Amino acid sequence: MRRQPQILQICLLMIGLTPLAGYCTSFVMVDDGDLADQAAYIAEVTVLRVNMSPGTLEPTTEYEMRLDHTLRGSAYSGTIRVRVRGGILPDGMGLQIFGAPRFVEGERLLLFLSPQSDGTFRILHLFLGAFHIKDVDGQDIAVRFFGEAEEIDIQGKKHVRRGPRSLDHFRLWLKSRVLGVHRSVDYFLSASEVPVDKFTILTGGDHFLRWQDFDFGNSVPFVAYAGGQPGLPGGGFQDFQQAMAAWNNGPARAVDYRYHGTTASIGGGLSFFDGINEILFDDLAVPSAFNAPFSCTSGGVLAAGGPWFSSGGTHSSNGETFTTAVGADIVTNKGIECLIDRIGFAEEVFAHELGHTLGLGHSCGDQASGACDPGSVFDEALMRANVHGDERGAQLNSDDRAGILFLYPNDPDLLFFNDFESGDTALWSTSVP
Ligand SMILES: [Zn+2]
Repeated sequence: MRRQPQILQICLLMIGLTPLAGYCTSFVMVDDGDLADQAAYIAEVTVLRVNMSPGTLEPTTEYEMRLDHTLRGSAYSGTIRVRVRGGILPDGMGLQIFGAPRFVEGERLLLFLSPQSDGTFRILHLFLGAFHIKDVDGQDIAVRFFGEAEEIDIQGKKHVRRGPRSLDHFRLWLKSRVLGVHRSVDYFLSASEVPVDKFTILTGGDHFLRWQDFDFGNSVPFVAYAGGQPGLPGGGFQDFQQAMAAWNNGPARAVDYRYHGTTASIGGGLSFFDGINEILFDDLAVPSAFNAPFSCTSGGVLAAGGPWFSSGGTHSSNGETFTTAVGADIVTNKGIECLIDRIGFAEEVFAHELGHTLGLGHSCGDQASGACDPGSVFDEALMRANVHGDERGAQLNSDDRAGILFLYPNDPDLLFFNDFESGDTALWSTSVP
């Protein structure tokens, strides 16, 4: 029998958040009212440009920002320059301050600022005065990232509430506060309203699993079994490429799966690693991946997929250790012909399994991620455990986008702040609609 040094990860979800490297910044949470009272200037802005070394002696990053809305301080208009400690000097010497906020061009922010004598601004409390504004399914929310900083509790300090805020309500509350009216806090979003941070990440061994190839600008090839998907007149090859495009054209610019055509080889399926990233149809490999065909009367599993990794094979990205994905396989089950030719169905199934091969777990609907709250953002995610089957096809929603950006950030410093839930093994299944 062939020995298998490679391990296949199928939807095994993360258990607890691994500690982040380098807790160099410590803080005690500042109450929103205190933050507002301390800020001479409060504004909503859009980042126009990022300049390193704006002529300062110390490593500094300067952001040119467009003023979109001023909440306190009317003396400014047009654009402002905001400086954050840390950056790269002309001689190449750089300083990285863990916990210092970093912004990207085009990003919207709500900032609590202190004007400096040189005409620039500093952010109050390093990063506590910087809220990132995220449009999540049409609603603006304000969030802060504490990923690199460690919070310290002070004995006797009252509990300061935190979490994503509704920007609309937070703005109104701040305007009142600036006028001296202390309204009760009404802008925090409850867990069911918080559309971020629900995605889950697959682990391999002790670490999150991801592809390193994308970090080097490389693509990852995928082939399709030439026999094609039974029930689809075209064999499903177009649907598979559409599914790939959903991730390639998604928010994570590095993600680059390439379709390399068909292969006559059944390959190892989910049973053994053959070094070929393949979508295999109709559970043709031996042994069977599912041990029971899908049935349109009794249900079952439609498809399964995931990344292969070698135990101990890790890489570092942004100061964190990840297990390195070295291969990927997807297998569809026998018996799905009765559903698969519905409009958008195959695309959705394939894109969901590709999401697993990229390292994503389920947004909801399995033991680890919890039940899907009907109509919630998680319920609308491609990475929901159950197929929607409503002709939406391969479509990422905000939760899917947040998940893939977590693994493959465009700005490698911008890590989403997450609560990961304990995990268990699950496969994508559906009941009969
Ligand atoms: Zn799944």
